[in-house]
Amino acid sequence: MQLITRFLLLRVGVFLLIGALLWLVFIAIVDGINLRWGHELAQRQVLFDKYRTLSPLISEIELARKMAAEPALIGMALNEQDPVLRRRGLQVLEDYRFRFRDHSYFAAFADSGHYYYNDAENGFAGNQLRYTLSPKSKNDKWFYATLTADTDYQVNVDPDVHLGVVKVWINVLLKHEGQILGVLGTGIDLTEFLKQSVGIKQKGVDNFFVDKSLAIQLSTDPELIDYASIAKKVDERIRINVLFKNPADIQALQAAAQALLDKPGGEVSTLWVEYQGERHLLGISYLPELGWYDLTLMDEQSVAVLQGYIWVPVLFSLLLLLALAAMGIFLNRWVLFPMHRLHEAMQAIQRGDGAIEPPLVGKGEMLALSDSFAKMVHVVRDTHAELERKVKERTEALQHLSEIDPLTGLLNRRGMMARFEQEISRQARQDGSLGLLLLDLDYFKNVNDHYGHAAGDLALCATAKVLGSVMRAYDHAARWGGEEFLILLPDCDENALLAIAERIRARIEALQIETGQHQFSFTASIGAHLPQTPQTPDAMLQQVDRALYAAKAGGRNCVKLSSKVESS
Ligand code: GH3
Ligand code: MG
Ligand code: MG
Repeated sequence: MQLITRFLLLRVGVFLLIGALLWLVFIAIVDGINLRWGHELAQRQVLFDKYRTLSPLISEIELARKMAAEPALIGMALNEQDPVLRRRGLQVLEDYRFRFRDHSYFAAFADSGHYYYNDAENGFAGNQLRYTLSPKSKNDKWFYATLTADTDYQVNVDPDVHLGVVKVWINVLLKHEGQILGVLGTGIDLTEFLKQSVGIKQKGVDNFFVDKSLAIQLSTDPELIDYASIAKKVDERIRINVLFKNPADIQALQAAAQALLDKPGGEVSTLWVEYQGERHLLGISYLPELGWYDLTLMDEQSVAVLQGYIWVPVLFSLLLLLALAAMGIFLNRWVLFPMHRLHEAMQAIQRGDGAIEPPLVGKGEMLALSDSFAKMVHVVRDTHAELERKVKERTEALQHLSEIDPLTGLLNRRGMMARFEQEISRQARQDGSLGLLLLDLDYFKNVNDHYGHAAGDLALCATAKVLGSVMRAYDHAARWGGEEFLILLPDCDENALLAIAERIRARIEALQIETGQHQFSFTASIGAHLPQTPQTPDAMLQQVDRALYAAKAGGRNCVKLSSKVESS
């Protein structure tokens, strides 16, 4: 896989990984903040609900308890038949009627079962004894249940069928020396009370009050209220089961409620529950004054303080994407594209493209690398050229050496044959005549025999010198054999040929060879040939050899022209 693809995949991987991490961290932070904020909010909300509900009730409870401590009422309860005590008791009740918020009271006595009541309109003046309670009557169960309850007072929501009203009843026990004489108190009209407690609507917030058995006592929906809970068995009551469908939620709520009972002090617990099909934060607090729990439910939206900040991770992701894209662009521009160009140039140079100049690419280290590469290519090319030049030189030198006779410095047979071919083809082009002389030293065996081989070599070198001095610049001379020399004379006529031959012969004859001990001279016989029509080298050599043979035969130390020699 190419680097460019690898880096691309790497960047995509980095983006996905960091993006996912960013998202998870953001969700965790938002959830954490929301939960913390929700908890705070729930605490405030619960306190708010608690006090707006409690405050009207507390003052009524205090007043009712004060009323229950009135001696006149105890006296009335102890001796209800006594008209004086009864009148005094009723007077006290009427006094309190004005002080109660609802301007109504009730008093029920255990012995007689008599139930006294008067309302704001004073509709029952002089007729306050409304009816007699009966343990057998279903509607009167609340009374007998309250008598046996182990608390001094209770708050009970109950319709009064005799009076046709639904009230939040404050029931206080009337006691004398440990003996329970009856129940008295006042009521608050439920509709009114609901309006100013749970009825004050807040968006996304719902509010309930439940008793210790978790039966619903106050709700904006009157149908959910479990009226006269005290008179029912626990499983007959309308409990929180109607609010929460999830058994785990109910269990958690029960546990939280139980835990709050054990630590008084108005603490608030919060937990997430499913309510009306959506996730809600539930705040729960115990109200010891009423023996009730306050439940406040807030939907996720009202709790989620950070819900509008989804753009934060999106923006971060976009910035990350931009950063990675920019990194990719610069990586490509500074490293990968220059590397690609360098690679292409390297391949072309490898293929032997000598015209390619190694490019200088990229920046910084990349530029330095391409610069080094260019310098290396130049060094390699220079070295290569130098090597080629040397090889050529050496080849030429070897070529030269292979054509030279080492003793005399003249051409050898091979060198001469090459010149011969050249001159023959040149002659064919230029239409000049080509003269040939073949020279053989006379009785040379004797020279060797008499003066030694080294003296013979000196004579050979002296002969070569003579040839050099007589030859024209464009003539060629070779040592053709042991003491035989061949001279090739381009552009030559018969006179010139013979004149040169004669000059050679005479100069050789005139040579005096000094060996230190001896001095001697020698002669040479020369055959000359000048073809009238172009001939092959072999044919020319044959002719000149014939002429030389004739010169030898003719007494040596003479020149013979082939055309003047009879063919044998
Ligand atoms: P002729 O007149 O018939 O040519 O008599 P010649 O003695 O020269 O006979 P031939 O050409 O047959 O003999 C050649 C002699 O040349 C034989 C050899 O001793 C001598 N010779 C050949 N090559 C060399 C050489 O390189 N150095 C020396 N010193 N002598 C050589
Ligand atoms: Mg010979
Ligand atoms: Mg000879």
